[in-house]
Amino acid sequence: MYIDQILYPIESLGPGKRMAIWLVGCHRGCKGCSNPELWSTEGHRDVPVSAVLQTIHEIHQENQIDGFTITGGEPMEQAEELLALILGLRQISRDILVFSGYRIEELLKRKGAFSMILENIAVLVDGAYCEELNEQLPLRGSSNQRVLLIDTTFAEPYADYLRQEHSPTQNMYFDGVTTSVGIHRKEFRDELKQKLQKYGVRSVEDG
Ligand code: SF4
Repeated sequence: MYIDQILYPIESLGPGKRMAIWLVGCHRGCKGCSNPELWSTEGHRDVPVSAVLQTIHEIHQENQIDGFTITGGEPMEQAEELLALILGLRQISRDILVFSGYRIEELLKRKGAFSMILENIAVLVDGAYCEELNEQLPLRGSSNQRVLLIDTTFAEPYADYLRQEHSPTQNMYFDGVTTSVGIHRKEFRDELKQKLQKYGVRSVEDG
């Protein structure tokens, strides 16, 4: 599967200390997308799902992982691999949140792994990103998107998380590179890049 990065612990993309996984590949081309560097799979390695799962299980042996957030890119563009990943992650936590630009109604009409994916996750955040509707809401890049609770056993932690007025963000710095995780204001990316350049620090999308 085409995967960009795995980060842990992430507290700005769902309740608890989560592992966030960014998949590569998206043909949707939303205006103002915060991760255009993840549209093309060119230059990214195709990693076996089993290898990704092995790494995650090793991290889990020494760390409490409360849940997983899978984003990208468009995770549904690698549906077969995504399903295999989700089934493996469920051995650690059933709290699996997936972001998709497709609405659930579209996904349910499709043949293939889509319905199985939806049966095995806790939450789907669905719908196209619309820059004009970016209100920095928790878990929603734009207010037209929906947070759909599929596994109701997770109703309480998600209800608490969504009560926040704005999405929390989390900044990380390692190996001379900085990254900021969460739902950001639409101006955030350019502002951050300018500030970092002043101090000679690279951001993740600089490569
Ligand atoms: S679906 Fe997501 S990754 Fe793809 S272009 Fe839209 S916002 Fe960007």
